[in-house]
Amino acid sequence: MIDLTGKNALVTGAGRGIGKEIALSLARAGAHVALCDIDPDSAQTAAADVESVGSKALALSANVSDAGEVKEMFSSYFSGFETLDILVNNAGITRDSLIMRLKEEHWDAVLNVNLKSAYLCCKEAARPMMKARGGKIINIASVVGIMGNAGQVNYAASKAGLIGLTKTLAREFASRAINVNAVAPGFIQTAMTDKLSDSDKERLTNQIPMSLLGSPQDVANAVVFLGSSLSGYITGQVLTVDGGLVM
Ligand code: NAP
Repeated sequence: MIDLTGKNALVTGAGRGIGKEIALSLARAGAHVALCDIDPDSAQTAAADVESVGSKALALSANVSDAGEVKEMFSSYFSGFETLDILVNNAGITRDSLIMRLKEEHWDAVLNVNLKSAYLCCKEAARPMMKARGGKIINIASVVGIMGNAGQVNYAASKAGLIGLTKTLAREFASRAINVNAVAPGFIQTAMTDKLSDSDKERLTNQIPMSLLGSPQDVANAVVFLGSSLSGYITGQVLTVDGGLVM
């Protein structure tokens, strides 16, 4: 059993889906968790669920693609928690379309929420983690950032960018004992994949060696491991959680 007692974590996009499950799993392992979401109500509801696990929870609201809102969100975080031991950059969106029909605003929105947000949050986390000479940063990428996916040029580019950001920050922060890793989920059953038609789901499932979609818990398990001392000698890596889709 992984023990995160005494650790403080911040998870973005934690109002629902994978982010909420990550927050709950970190709390079950003993961490105190701040849950940030663009929707204050879902952050509040998810934080109440984390509290019922027995951990301290802090609900924060911010659009993580906005520099000013991220700054304010971190200052609220540090009014509630003294340290930042684990940062999980999870917030993400899709705006799918083949490139010929992809609107510039949808390119910008996806790059801003999925990639710029990680730059902004890592920048805010850098000073306190460096001062503490330790920390864990976990970026939620996607297998699509490794293998590409027709109709998701914006999303794939954002997730490939997140992998580049992960490897670069791993190098920048290694001497301060800050581990920076990415988790690349495959197809996970959440609101994001509920949008797919049954025929698309069947087509995708047929490509997965384990022949099933993953669950938010599968992703959260990898995050808890990377957030723990068990991952001490692991940095700059991309851990795929995908039933064998990418190998
Ligand atoms: P989800 O159910 O859509 O949840 C995403 C969460 O992020 C929502 O609570 C959403 O808030 C929040 N969010 C969106 N934009 C935000 C912003 N600008 N600032 C702050 N919060 C924001 O998605 P999910 O399936 O759990 O995905 C979580 C992460 O895993 C994403 O990075 C996604 O790309 C990645 N991923 C998912 C899958 C999959 O199969 N589901 C596969 C690979 C990777 P609202 O609900 O209020 O909009």
